[in-house]
Amino acid sequence: MIKIDHLVKNYGATRAVDDISFEVAKGEIVGLLGPNGAGKSTTMNILTGYLSSTSGRVLVDGLNVLDEPLEVKKRIGYLPEQPPLYLDMTVEEYLIFVYDLKGCELNRTKHLEEICEVVKLTDVYHRLIKNLSKGYRQRVGIAQALIGNPPVIIFDEPTVGLDPKQIIEIRNLIRTLGRDHTVILSTHILQEVQAVCDRIIIINKGRVVADELTENINRIAANCNRYQAKICGPQREVLSMLRDRTDIAYAEALAARDGEAYVYHIESAKGVDIRKSLFYALASKSWPLIGLETLGMNLEDIFITVVDKTDGAEMPKSPKGGKKGRSRTFEKDLAQSILDATAAKQESIAPYEGDE
Ligand code: ADP
Ligand code: MG
Repeated sequence: MIKIDHLVKNYGATRAVDDISFEVAKGEIVGLLGPNGAGKSTTMNILTGYLSSTSGRVLVDGLNVLDEPLEVKKRIGYLPEQPPLYLDMTVEEYLIFVYDLKGCELNRTKHLEEICEVVKLTDVYHRLIKNLSKGYRQRVGIAQALIGNPPVIIFDEPTVGLDPKQIIEIRNLIRTLGRDHTVILSTHILQEVQAVCDRIIIINKGRVVADELTENINRIAANCNRYQAKICGPQREVLSMLRDRTDIAYAEALAARDGEAYVYHIESAKGVDIRKSLFYALASKSWPLIGLETLGMNLEDIFITVVDKTDGAEMPKSPKGGKKGRSRTFEKDLAQSILDATAAKQESIAPYEGDE
């Protein structure tokens, strides 16, 4: 549905987008995740035809944004970072204004009613926008994006400035929209992409540093060998037993207690699942194990790992033509496995074009 191909954008001497390529299939909900200044808004502005690129190509539904800007805009509903609201209009006046602007041909009353129902604006339909809370204004912004029922929805930081309840509502709304739309949203909030998106594209300094299905990232994050255990029993003896086990690489006792249990951090030997053997070992000593949880990496750890590893380092490009390993100085670790997945994916859409 969307194809971004070697996109570059310079603002004077600043390169805001530095050779970004990715594709989004019909019906996908994709999150662009990256710190402030990563180039998310710039990418979205080019994608929606509000900015021109320095080089590269953007196709929406097979149409080039540069060649057929109006046709492309008809297919996209866009909520920019600063929603373009007219504060002196009522919600109704504003939505009618946008309806006319878009040259929408659907039955006006019915269409606007439906949208207001979906985004829950019906209660404030006749109020002035300037008197609405930030959360309601954001909904008005979303409503204008939905007018004309475009197949592609692009939301730039849709939950910024909202309170936790509003954030949950907007996320639910985006998930609902994702059922019959292609959605791209940007955020610098990790939980947001985790909660809403099928796929996560991490952008840093104008480059794609990771592109993975959310479920894979969650799995990588959960596939971890660090645990926190709560064990009832004499602390020193328990600790020495843990440290003597060959399937445990590291164990330490924490200051924390849970009733009569002491709390330990344990790292299993690589590739070993210690959970059952640990249970039986402790049971044989009559030291009840009352808690065992994985200290998995959360998305934040993953993000920091990936971004740190790629800060200043050149990203591996499509490893075609015997160039495998070029600029790969990272050890084989989590970040690398995500990067490998990215490189493999990039290869399928962006043929390697030689050295820069
Ligand atoms: P994000 O949305 O990820 O926070 P942006 O796309 O807004 O990032 O910005 C990417 C980079 O481009 C930043 O370094 C920003 O300062 C710069 N930038 C954005 N817009 C402009 C502009 N109109 N003129 C000059 N520099 C800009
Ligand atoms: Mg932005």
